[in-house]
Amino acid sequence: MNILDILQAFQERYDRTPRIFQAPGRVNLIGEHTDYNDGFVFPMALERYTRVAIAPQKERRLDIYSANLDEATTLSLNANETARGHWSDYVAGMAHVLEHAGYVLPGAMLYIHSDVPVGSGLSSSAALEVSSALAFLSLIDQTIPGPELARLAQKAENQFVGMNCGIMDQFISIHGQAEHALFLDCRSLDYQLVPLDSSGARIVVCNTMVKHELGASAYNQRRDQCETGVRLMQQHWPTIRALRDVSMTQFLLVEGSLPPVVAQRCRHVITENERVLDAIAALSTTDLQRFGRNMNDSHDSLRDDYQVSCEELDWMVEMARSQPGCLGARMTGGGFGGCSVNLVELPHVDSFCRSVAQQYAERTGLAPHLYVSVPSRGAHEINL
Ligand code: ADP
Ligand code: MG
Repeated sequence: MNILDILQAFQERYDRTPRIFQAPGRVNLIGEHTDYNDGFVFPMALERYTRVAIAPQKERRLDIYSANLDEATTLSLNANETARGHWSDYVAGMAHVLEHAGYVLPGAMLYIHSDVPVGSGLSSSAALEVSSALAFLSLIDQTIPGPELARLAQKAENQFVGMNCGIMDQFISIHGQAEHALFLDCRSLDYQLVPLDSSGARIVVCNTMVKHELGASAYNQRRDQCETGVRLMQQHWPTIRALRDVSMTQFLLVEGSLPPVVAQRCRHVITENERVLDAIAALSTTDLQRFGRNMNDSHDSLRDDYQVSCEELDWMVEMARSQPGCLGARMTGGGFGGCSVNLVELPHVDSFCRSVAQQYAERTGLAPHLYVSVPSRGAHEINL
């Protein structure tokens, strides 16, 4: 659906003229499972957006329609509203969190359409939260500074929806910029937009089309294991607050005394933070080979130490690495399915896509979706 389709569909459904806001999905280039360890991440916004068209209404209720699901729902804007285990929780949660922060919202009619693949690890959830947030704020003529808005959107997902995610997804969906990836310090929320020159290479995202159920419980288990590691290392260095504070030298001194699984998890996080910094340093000299090597090492660490990959992701990554012009390949997102991210030299992009799609389909019987991407602009209103 393009913008005019959305405008027309809104007018047909609600008989009003809306304002329209859009927020992008994202892919994380490197820095996986570091966000909740106060560490570093390096995502970019995708050229795929969730769009929310909105108009106010007198009654204090939200009428919401998702064109992706062809489903309408209505909910009241009461302070005691809670999650229903429904897709509208992301929108309701955003309204709830904004009201809790002191922004009194009127009722509204919303029309949602997204070309971010839903539930594939490219963060359609953050795109929905952030586009909804801008839409709600427009009704009361308010804006909120980006980092604070990211915190509120994260809060909607953590506290209302009940998904204990880090802040990366919301942050990049707000702050993304064309031709730049975003280096984020997840502790201080200091960030830097780093130029990502698209003249020599492309980011190719490969969707495995699988999502294993293990995901949610394994995620919470990894978080616990990281916290255990922190607690144990605090006995040696009381100033350590998160794995972010542990140097490789310190880790090597105590590695043998940690429970083996905890040591593995810690090693991933500590080396992954180092890889993010090295990958970004590589960009300052346009050393894409070095950037790609860090991506490869990241995958191997996620597979072997953090153990959040799966067969399909490993196959996709192996197939990618065997293609000419592939500088780096790794799983991206939480793991156990979802997508891989690949850095591919420009002249090889077409053949890369063809071969990987074919080989993956032969191996799994699944037709993967591939997205050739350039870094895009973060959330904003569409001028109608
Ligand atoms: P991801 O963020 O990786 O896409 P999540 O499981 O975090 O996966 O979020 C996906 C959920 O977000 C969906 O199951 C649905 O509830 C909600 N969602 C996202 N986009 C839409 C949309 N366009 N319409 C309705 N619900 C959506
Ligand atoms: Mg999500």
